[in-house]
Amino acid sequence: MAKWKCGVCGYIHDGDSAPDKCPKCDAPKEKFEKLADDKVQLIERSRLTNGLHQRLYTLLDDVSGVCEKGIADNLDPGCLSIFKKINDCSQKGKQMIKAEIQGHIGKGKWG
Ligand SMILES: [Zn+2]
Repeated sequence: MAKWKCGVCGYIHDGDSAPDKCPKCDAPKEKFEKLADDKVQLIERSRLTNGLHQRLYTLLDDVSGVCEKGIADNLDPGCLSIFKKINDCSQKGKQMIKAEIQGHIGKGKWG
């Protein structure tokens, strides 16, 4: 599907033609430009990657939840150590994802 970019605010519209006005900033249809195929590909791939980051973040959240139950249960030092180490990895992973997503937003990579 074709993509159109608002020249005023950068909003991306998916469709066969530009919208009558920008849903984000109300700019008229004439302000939209059709994006070239390579840019369309890049936006599709960015959306995919951002989706993967979001899935991973959700999974890591689950991992942390499981670890926290194990930590609270505190059965024995060996188990506790594993739960704590994996929880640390999960927290670090979540921080990395947050930083990366912030970077994408900063560079206007969100499509
Ligand atoms: Zn706009």
